[in-house]
Amino acid sequence: MKTDIQIAQEAQLKPVKEVAEQSGIEEDELEFYGKYKAKLSEELWERIQERPDGKLVLVTAINPTPAGEGKTTTTVGLGQAMVKLGKNALIALREPSLGPCFGIKGGAAGGGYAQVVPMEDLNLHFTGDFHAITSANNLLAAMLDNHIQQGNALKIDPRQIVWKRCLDMNDRVLRNIVVGLGNKMDGMVREDHFVITVASEIMAILCLAENLQDLKKRLGRIIVAYNFDGEPVTAEDLQATGAMTALLKDAIKPNLIQTLEHTPALVHGGPFANIAHGCNSVRATRMAMKLSDITITEAGFGADLGAEKFLDIKCRMAGLKPDAVVLVATVRALKYNGGIKKEELAKENLEALEKGIVNLEKHIENMQKYGVPIIVTLNSFVTDTKAEHEFVRRFCEEKGCQFALSEVWEKGGEGGIALAEKVLDTLEHKESNFHTLYPDEMSLEDKIETIAKEIYGAANVLYEPAAKKQLAKIASLGFDTFPVCMAKNQYSLSDDANRLGRPENFDLHIREVYVNAGAGFVVALTGAIMTMPGLPKVPAANGIDVTEDGKITGLF
Ligand code: ADP
Ligand code: MG
Repeated sequence: MKTDIQIAQEAQLKPVKEVAEQSGIEEDELEFYGKYKAKLSEELWERIQERPDGKLVLVTAINPTPAGEGKTTTTVGLGQAMVKLGKNALIALREPSLGPCFGIKGGAAGGGYAQVVPMEDLNLHFTGDFHAITSANNLLAAMLDNHIQQGNALKIDPRQIVWKRCLDMNDRVLRNIVVGLGNKMDGMVREDHFVITVASEIMAILCLAENLQDLKKRLGRIIVAYNFDGEPVTAEDLQATGAMTALLKDAIKPNLIQTLEHTPALVHGGPFANIAHGCNSVRATRMAMKLSDITITEAGFGADLGAEKFLDIKCRMAGLKPDAVVLVATVRALKYNGGIKKEELAKENLEALEKGIVNLEKHIENMQKYGVPIIVTLNSFVTDTKAEHEFVRRFCEEKGCQFALSEVWEKGGEGGIALAEKVLDTLEHKESNFHTLYPDEMSLEDKIETIAKEIYGAANVLYEPAAKKQLAKIASLGFDTFPVCMAKNQYSLSDDANRLGRPENFDLHIREVYVNAGAGFVVALTGAIMTMPGLPKVPAANGIDVTEDGKITGLF
């Protein structure tokens, strides 16, 4: 069997201008980054913005195994299948982060015969968006420390600095550091922290901004610290807004690439779903909806994280109304949720499947709470057995859910026809009555409790004393109308990664709460979740290489 990278490297790519033509984009409306990558220009947006919107389909999943459950693969394969059925479809994905690329999970270009290409470019530096975001983040940090060094006219309390530096790398030693060591000219000594770029507020802002003006406004509102009177100090106070916007001017333009079957794909923005809001940019989604009849987009990790935030944060802010949700399950992840170890997942085990299917049940119930029609799809692995597939199919039918087996990993678009037909049928015959889970005017505590109880199935929410204080402060500053971005591990519906399946009667622990005033949400950190991941004992990086003739190997 060929690896993802072998399949990707054997693909015959079309020049991106020909891919763009399929979506009615003219050559002059592209900004080329080589032959196979392009950004969509402002001129294109000007031309299409008055068009009616196409349909919007969200791809999400059950709680995953550490390898991922194939949402990106399904999203890409479903897009390819739609085109095979003669539909004008566009795929809207997130850009991969180097953290997972070199860590456990690998890249994010899809898999098998459902991939976007060029996959090495996408997984590594792509069009430089992450570089721009990291630079804007760290410019703000540098200006903040310099302001203190140069006399601290804003009376920033060095003990209340909340802005952190960032890097797109899993690098645990940077979680807690001391900066400014040396002598007087080397700055003020203080404790500092790094987050991974995909958890940075700048990433969230880039993904939620409607346009360059909105981006600029949001950047200006970022709270970097509090002064000695406890009042917020913003990026605008530091006069950093203009320079940060300059760094992000091109990064806000969506990137166009293609699938293995030349389906156009917009790949833009990349917040993680566990420690950030988890979906691609509003800008790219909007453009996709103007350019196509059906936009297929993915939100990260399980539906408790990515989909909840897609619906309660992104759709709320951008006024988007999804028309259908595709919920991806795998036999492997269901067995994993049934308590089977990673190494044993390839063996048939109906007992474990029956035990783990409660996880799928909970995610179906959760998505139903938003009023959007659901289609469950089983992403088929060659190790699955017929009996296992039938068990899941029957379960979905008993639940009254649309179901389709997906074989896009093995067969590309052809393997997604059954799923595409179910999705088309749903779009045609079922109405979406989308509504968010909670209203803006609910208190922050009630919002957290609603998500914890309704989506996670928690019995209680417990706060660290510091988190309670932070909540009160955020509310007193007038940010209590914001939605909440929960940061939680991706493996369990609870805040304990070991409680798989459908945990009940558990407490959700809120450790820390802070406001992202520019992004427009309040972040609640649960359990032991970290905003700077570490590498595993044997990182994927160990297996990545470049051959003598310059070909990259070992990426997946
Ligand atoms: P997600 O988006 O849910 O994190 P991905 O689509 O990125 O998951 O897939 C994760 C990994 O699993 C990829 O390396 C992909 O090649 C592999 N994969 C996905 N679906 C299948 C499948 N049906 N059979 C074998 N491997 C698969
Ligand atoms: Mg993915």
